[in-house]
Amino acid sequence: MGSKKPSANAKRVKEFKSQLGGLDDLFSREEKRADDISKRKEQAQREKSCTSKNRYTSYDEAQQAIAACAAHGTKGLKAYKCPHCNGWHLTSHPWD
Ligand SMILES: [Zn+2]
Repeated sequence: MGSKKPSANAKRVKEFKSQLGGLDDLFSREEKRADDISKRKEQAQREKSCTSKNRYTSYDEAQQAIAACAAHGTKGLKAYKCPHCNGWHLTSHPWD
């Protein structure tokens, strides 16, 4: 082995990494991609459970809407507080 100078060592590491084809880059790209996917999922979830639904400003208002729906034959609705917009939405699915 030649020089023990840290700068020479750093140069070797750099060369080694470039021989690997810029793995650092690859990893950060993968991370970003996973991040994008989870963001898209979050957006789709939000679309499904928030943006595409009627919004009620209070629990009482949501309950009135449920009562109105029940009067028209749509039963089994539930109100839930939305974590996205802080309003209330109705759902017919207990797991929504
Ligand atoms: Zn919402």
